[in-house]
Amino acid sequence: LTARSLPVAFASLTLAIVCLLASRAATQSPSALLTILSKDGRRTINVTTMAGQDFVALDDLGAVFQFTTREESGAITAAYKNKTIILTLDQPLASVAGRLVPLPAAPLRAGRRVLVPIEFISRALAPILDTKLDLRKSSNLLVVGDLRVPHVTARLETTGAGARLTVDATPRAGLVASQDGQRVLVKFDVDILDFTSPSLPPQALVQAIHPLDQSTLAIDLGPRAGSVRTSTQLDGSAAGTTRLVVDVAAPVQADTQTPPPPAAATPPPSQAVEPPSAGLAGASVRTVVIDAGHGGDDAGVTSASGTKEKDITLGVARRLKAAIEGRLGIRVVLTRDDDRNPSFDERAATANNSKADLFVSLHADASFKPSVSGATIYYLAATDEPHEETQAGGRLPVVTGGSRDIELIPWDLAQARHAAQSMAFAMLTEEQFRGRVPLSAHAVISAPLRVLQSANMPAVLVEIGHLSNAEQDKQLAGAEFQNLFTQALTDAVTKFHEQAAAGDLR
Ligand SMILES: [Zn+2]
Repeated sequence: LTARSLPVAFASLTLAIVCLLASRAATQSPSALLTILSKDGRRTINVTTMAGQDFVALDDLGAVFQFTTREESGAITAAYKNKTIILTLDQPLASVAGRLVPLPAAPLRAGRRVLVPIEFISRALAPILDTKLDLRKSSNLLVVGDLRVPHVTARLETTGAGARLTVDATPRAGLVASQDGQRVLVKFDVDILDFTSPSLPPQALVQAIHPLDQSTLAIDLGPRAGSVRTSTQLDGSAAGTTRLVVDVAAPVQADTQTPPPPAAATPPPSQAVEPPSAGLAGASVRTVVIDAGHGGDDAGVTSASGTKEKDITLGVARRLKAAIEGRLGIRVVLTRDDDRNPSFDERAATANNSKADLFVSLHADASFKPSVSGATIYYLAATDEPHEETQAGGRLPVVTGGSRDIELIPWDLAQARHAAQSMAFAMLTEEQFRGRVPLSAHAVISAPLRVLQSANMPAVLVEIGHLSNAEQDKQLAGAEFQNLFTQALTDAVTKFHEQAAAGDLR
């Protein structure tokens, strides 16, 4: 069971899911529970730990998230609406809507059930669902949708003058503290608190800290506690933490004591601490490098009608060069302007040597499912889950055989410093594509892409559409689509250029 204590306001909706594993391997440790919080209530599913890796049952996830699974000649397919995840029992990989995603371990069979690493939730399931999933492994918590559920911790230190209780809420949350007799109430502006109870050192000033309801913490003071003062602070970290410090004075002699001042109600923080600005602010975009994927012997994806990815990327790259140079007067350098295939390093070197302010790599997608279509914009972003299982420079096999043109790599520092701007450009691009260029279900994705890693500037990779989709196969090679795409991407570059010049990008 988790150490976390959560309010029970969902009692009427709480579903007790009893899931006993059909069989247990000898190395299996006793199950923990993963609590799933959503607007509809709270559920739990079992977590099984084997060799240090947490697993959950695929059909438990299916029951919660309403997807179906079937198994056929070693391949396990999970289907949600028109999207699928394909797993094989001996591979630490998932094919998610046609895209390969690494898993920390291969799926396992336990009796009639299939267990998947818990990271399956964030890496494979989240991309195909319509709702946001926030997996918090350290709290055994999965937050579904846009619930505001800060993780709240508390620690108590005794000092000569009394006791100091420090309460941290991450991400930031507005709060109001007030005193009510022998109790200090901390009301958070959130949906639910993810509260970890502290162990209190022996002392007489604070008796207990516990949730009072979904969004309120109660601090029970000892009978002889003196005056209470509270203050809030914000830190500057990316996720952001709101810190509440509660100082409880040691008791003083009754006859010499001046009446304690009423505890000040601390207003919610009104100003977020901005993360440090990252470089481009104040500058404008002077050079853009457009990278036409594949070329030469490497055609990339070839569609049913014979359209080659390498030709589409080059065609669009040339249109982009003309449009951006013509409209914005910004220099555009192409990594290739003919039918050859520079290495990833050569492509990145072109961008770095050109002192480019933006790098856009163009590709076209293919999916196992012919119905999947639309553009996807990738940027390289640091994640809290290391991709330790991927190999630098190595090609990952595709479930159906062959190899993927986009290699997965460990997080690299060259692109790290530009992550925020890369994301900003990815978002601007999505905004400009909306209503003009068909987008895939998850149009902006952060992923460890080899071609972006060494680019020392904001960089994105755009999969302009799906050649595996019959309709898009016809569209993508045509001038009408390519012109619309070029206009939309040029508009995104324009916005990025304007925001950079105005110093709005951080
Ligand atoms: Zn490609």
